[in-house]
Amino acid sequence: MEIWIATGNQGKLKEFERLLSFATVKSINDIPGITMPPETGKTFSDNARIKAKALRAIKNESWVIADDSGIECEGLNHLPGVHSARYAGPNARDVENTAKLLKMIDMRSATNRRAQFKCVIVAYDPAGKEYVFEGVLKGTISKDIRGTNGFGYDNVFIPDGHTKTTAEMDMAEKNKISHRGAAIQQFIRVINP
Ligand code: IMP
Repeated sequence: MEIWIATGNQGKLKEFERLLSFATVKSINDIPGITMPPETGKTFSDNARIKAKALRAIKNESWVIADDSGIECEGLNHLPGVHSARYAGPNARDVENTAKLLKMIDMRSATNRRAQFKCVIVAYDPAGKEYVFEGVLKGTISKDIRGTNGFGYDNVFIPDGHTKTTAEMDMAEKNKISHRGAAIQQFIRVINP
């Protein structure tokens, strides 16, 4: 079974490949020259739908999925949210986004470090029926950068009930508890491989 994923983010892709190891996972990296539309939505589901629809316009013979995800901080009015990938600027690298997040939390919300990762997956079956799945992982923002696994904000996020950041966990440990893992489990129940 082939599943197409509307992402070029290597961190996400590695997690999807592990979570969907029963399938052949393909991504926009396998379509030379493809350009994805800008993520202009106000919500994770808007943006996931924009990406999934763009890929489905090219690949409509298989399941197509897109994940839009990010981190929401209580003390920052739930920012960066849908802007997570671009928090420190349009082409910001993970290290710059993470540094900005730590700085903003220290300035605005040092005593409330509550945060959550959220992942919304929009999926289309080969007939074009749409499904939406959501997963959340609650936790706190660490004081310092810790760990080298994962991607994005993993090195500053400590899930509830844990002492390690998600960047100090291996992928299997993170996938068991993660927002992406929770959303993809719902998808797997629907496709029933
Ligand atoms: P998207 O590609 O627009 O969905 O951007 C997602 C961004 O949110 C990523 O680039 C990361 O900065 C952040 N993010 C989403 N999921 C995770 C995760 O599992 N760990 C760390 N950061 C994440």
